[in-house]
Amino acid sequence: MTFLAEIYREFTFEAAHRLPNVPDGHKCSRLHGHSYRVEVHVAGAVGDDTGWVQDFGDIKAAFKPLEDQLDHNYLNEVPGLENPTSEILAKWIWTRLANALPNLSAIQVRETCTSGCIYRGDSHHAA
Ligand SMILES: [Zn+2]
Repeated sequence: MTFLAEIYREFTFEAAHRLPNVPDGHKCSRLHGHSYRVEVHVAGAVGDDTGWVQDFGDIKAAFKPLEDQLDHNYLNEVPGLENPTSEILAKWIWTRLANALPNLSAIQVRETCTSGCIYRGDSHHAA
């Protein structure tokens, strides 16, 4: 019997950034680093034979080129991340995974243990 589930895989990478558009004196305007944690979520039907939504290995393979661009880099120098907030980074990751993972359901980005962002694609947001 078919049922729906959402799976995710977590990735970590280290990167430096600064936020260029914050007010003078804001601590995030200064160069600093984070141990980022990213969760890539995929939702869909659990296959009758496979018993899974998708192979976790597919998610790992899809994320690998992004990890190579982000890990131990200065995010502000990565095209599209000139203002590397968690929100913009989550959308940046989503855009680059959407083709490889058609059932992509959410990207979660955590900068710290207590601060993060979840992006579910523009279709989930009011205009
Ligand atoms: Zn920061």
